[in-house]
Amino acid sequence: MGGKRGWGGELGPRLSRLGQTLKGQLPESEGAWDPLRPLQHNPPPPEQADVVVAGGGVLGWSFAYWLKTLENRRHGMRVVVVERDPTYSQASTVLSAGGIRQQFSLPENIRLSLHSATFLRTINEHLWVPNEPPIDLQFQPSGYLFLASERGAATLEAGVKLQREEGVKVVLLSPAQLKAKFPWINTEDVAVASYGLENEGWFDPWSLLNAFRRKAMSLGVYSCVGEVTSFVMDTADNTPGMAQGFARVKYVNVRLPDSLEKQPVSCAVVVAAAGAWTGKLLDSATAGLRGSLALSPLPIEPRKRYVYVWHCPDGPGLETPFLIDTSGAYFRREGIAGNYLGSMSPPEGREPDTGNLEVDHDFFQEEVWPRLAHRVPAFQSLKVKSAWAGYYDYNTFDQNGVLGPHPQLQNVFVLGGFSGHGLQQAPAAGKAAAELLLHGSSSIDVSRLAPGRLWGSEPLLEAAIV
Ligand SMILES: Cc1cc2nc3c(=O)[nH]c(=O)nc-3n(C[C@H](O)[C@H](O)[C@H](O)COP(=O)(O)OP(=O)(O)OC[C@H]3O[C@@H](n4cnc5c(N)ncnc54)[C@H](O)[C@@H]3O)c2cc1C
Repeated sequence: MGGKRGWGGELGPRLSRLGQTLKGQLPESEGAWDPLRPLQHNPPPPEQADVVVAGGGVLGWSFAYWLKTLENRRHGMRVVVVERDPTYSQASTVLSAGGIRQQFSLPENIRLSLHSATFLRTINEHLWVPNEPPIDLQFQPSGYLFLASERGAATLEAGVKLQREEGVKVVLLSPAQLKAKFPWINTEDVAVASYGLENEGWFDPWSLLNAFRRKAMSLGVYSCVGEVTSFVMDTADNTPGMAQGFARVKYVNVRLPDSLEKQPVSCAVVVAAAGAWTGKLLDSATAGLRGSLALSPLPIEPRKRYVYVWHCPDGPGLETPFLIDTSGAYFRREGIAGNYLGSMSPPEGREPDTGNLEVDHDFFQEEVWPRLAHRVPAFQSLKVKSAWAGYYDYNTFDQNGVLGPHPQLQNVFVLGGFSGHGLQQAPAAGKAAAELLLHGSSSIDVSRLAPGRLWGSEPLLEAAIV
C-alpha cells in the first residue's frame, strides 16, 4: 500500500556506503559480542557504529529491529540503541493506554495503524526468538466507538468514508442503532457514531516493547544504557564544501550511568527517537553550534496526560467498546471485574506542569467524571482505584508523527512526535523509517510526515486526536 516516493533518497545509499566503510574499520575482536549480554550488565557503547538510535522506547526498538531485518546481511550494520533509563519510569510507551484503532482522518495514520494491526496479529512470525516462550501481547479485540454531536457529524462521516476507502471495516450508527447496540449509553446529544469492526482494541505495551527489544538484540543490535548528551559536528565553518546552515554528526557523546564520563561514538547516522524529549535532545545536543548554525527547534515536547482506573459494578460490562465521547473524554474496560480505564486531554490553555508525573485527582472529579456520568448514567456511582500520569510525545505543530531526515542535520533522522498514537503505529513507522534510511523510499507512503513540514508548511491536521 502507498506509493514508492523518492524523498530522502540520498540518505539511503549514503548510509549504505558509510555503513560498509565503518564496518570495514571495526576491529575483528569487537564483532563477536553476545547480543543478549547487556541484559545482565551494561557494557559501554562501542566506539564506532553505523547507526546510533537515541532513545530505546517502542519506536527506537522497532526501528532497530526493522533495520536489521531489512538490511543486506552481507554487510551487517552495527546498530546501537542508547536508552538512558532501563526502568522506563517516564517513557510514554509503558505509560500509555495501549489502544490501537483504524479510525483516523488522515490516510497516513490509517495506513500506519492498519499495517501495524496486521503485524501485531502475526507478531510471533516476526518477533519470536527461538528457545523463548511465544509472545503474548494480551490483545483485547474491541471496536473503538467514536461519538459525534451535530457539530462534529460531518467530520466523523468524512473520516469513515476515507477509512472505508483504505480498507477499514467500520460502520456508522444512528442514535437509534447506537441505543439498540449499547443500551447503557445516553444518546441524547449524539448525532452519529462510528464503530470499528476489526483491527481495534488494546494490548500490553510492555510486551510489545520487550518483544521488539529482544528480537532486535537477537539479530545483533547493541543495547546500551546511557544518555546521548551532545553531537560533535562537521559544519560549514570546519568543512570545505558544506553549505552554511547545514551540519553532519561525526560523533555522539553518551554519558554513562552514574558517571560524568562521556563515551564518544562515531557514527554514520543518528536516529532521534527520544519520545517526548526528541525536541530537547536535538536542542541540547546542538547547543554548542548556536553561533554557526541557525537551527530551527523541533516542536516535540512532553505534555502530561492522566489515566484513571475506576470500579463500577453496574457499569457497561464485557461488551464495552473503547469509547471516545463527543466531549473528548474516553474510556475502555480494564479486565473483567467491573473496572474501567479512561481520561481526557486537558482543555485548551490548561496544560499541567510537566516537571513531574504527579496525578491531579481533582481533574478527574471536575472534568472527567461529569463527562463520563453524562454519557453513561451508571458511572454516576464509581470509585477511582488507581491513576497514573505519562507524557504524550507531543508535536505542537500538528500532533502527528515526524518521520524522516532532518532538513539541516544531514545525517540525523527523526522518528518521534506521534502524540497519542505512537504505540500502535510503532511497528509500521519503524519499518517505514528503516526502509527510507536503507533504500530512500518506503512501502508505506509517509512522505507527508517528513520533518520539513514543521517549518513553513500547513499543519497536517488529524481530526481524530484523543
Ligand atoms: C497516557 C498516555 C496514553 C497513551 N495512549 C496511547 C494509546 O492508547 N495508543 C497509542 O498508540 N499511543 C498512546 N500513547 C502514545 C504512545 O505511548 C507514544 O506515542 C509512544 O509510546 C512513543 O514511543 P517512543 O518510543 O517515541 O517514546 P518513549 O516510549 O517515551 O521512549 C523514548 C525513550 O527515549 C529515552 N530518552 C530520552 N532522551 C534520551 C537521551 N538523550 N538519550 C538516551 N535516551 C533518551 C527515554 O528515556 C525513553 O525511554 C499514549 C501516551 C500516554 C502518555
